[in-house]
Amino acid sequence: MSNPSQGSPRGPAPVCPYLQRTPQGYVCSITQRSVNPLGWYCVFDYMNCPIYIGHLSRMAGVKGPERKYSEDVVIAAEDLSVVFKVGSMFSKKDLYAVDHINITVNKGETLAVVGESGSGKTTLGKTLVGLYKPTTGRIYFHGRDVSTMTDEEYRVYRLKSQYIHQDPYSSLNPYKTVYDILAVPLRANKLVHSKAEEEKAIFETLESVGLNPKAYINKYPFELSGGERQRVSIARALLVKPEFVVADEPVTMLDASLRLEVLDLLLSVQKEMNLSILFITHDLGMAYYMAGERGRAAVMYLGSIMEFGPAKEMLESPLHPYTQALLSAIPEPDPTKSRSKKVMKLRSLDPPNPLRAPPGCKFSDRCPFAMDRCFKERPPLKKVGNTWVACWLY
Ligand code: SF4
Repeated sequence: MSNPSQGSPRGPAPVCPYLQRTPQGYVCSITQRSVNPLGWYCVFDYMNCPIYIGHLSRMAGVKGPERKYSEDVVIAAEDLSVVFKVGSMFSKKDLYAVDHINITVNKGETLAVVGESGSGKTTLGKTLVGLYKPTTGRIYFHGRDVSTMTDEEYRVYRLKSQYIHQDPYSSLNPYKTVYDILAVPLRANKLVHSKAEEEKAIFETLESVGLNPKAYINKYPFELSGGERQRVSIARALLVKPEFVVADEPVTMLDASLRLEVLDLLLSVQKEMNLSILFITHDLGMAYYMAGERGRAAVMYLGSIMEFGPAKEMLESPLHPYTQALLSAIPEPDPTKSRSKKVMKLRSLDPPNPLRAPPGCKFSDRCPFAMDRCFKERPPLKKVGNTWVACWLY
């Protein structure tokens, strides 16, 4: 066989025609290193190429490797739990930050995750992009189980899954200029091969987030406003051409006047890049703004999903008492409406200690509708119309 990296004398070998179908297609789409014996460029040692194995398996009458989720699903969590050990050296306790969660995020979709502080939203987001390890359960990226990925697949999964931090003030290195901050992911991942390529990528990305490159590349973070810093953070996440981004309350630290600007920026880059976004927020209104008419939302409480479904339906007719409480807590700017608005009265305003979550429904200590059964048995997620809800009222 001729040297695969050189292609044939008639020109380079074609890209693998199964690019969109193979579980590892996302790897092939960014790295094409060799040609497999079927004559296509293939990133893998061809003996590990799923298509080649499938081809051999079919010839041998053996079933080939299968994809776990449909092609539309970019990332999926299956029975995912993240448990932290807390307490003193002699009495460690398990804190379930994420408690047996199942979610999927589709291509180009925004899934808004809503909940109050300590509900496990950030832990879920960080685990989905590989910053935390799941204690139990699995994460699938393009249908491939992350825990069984090869080193190359895992590298690409981490590259294609980016995280935008809540605090633009502490997430940027204060000793580096905007250019140097943005050059780091490009150099670390060997995504550019010359200074000219690096400059082009940085300039284009800064323009895409609405910053004039010439005016900003030599500035330090302290010379930028909050909105500009968050735009640089977004540019850093977008530089590596991600497919999935976790935006962790990206506008919480910004002035109210800048929030809409940053949210609109996220929506426009999402449309341009067909990006999948997990948008973390404590505000149901903002969740709906980001998820839009067709997006979905998940409401989290003490590490569990309480309600999961179309964001629009959840906002218009929430089913779970906790979602109803969140909605009733949104301030009404019109004073006339505000006076007539019913605020749900909870049995307690303080969330329970996550180390001592109620044994039945986690919301039972605060829920105004709690019944005997709620204190003893934990309700599973049940489908009601288009929405999944964990409550004994349904
Ligand atoms: Fe309230 Fe019971 Fe439903 Fe929990 S299961 S939300 S306590 S009614």
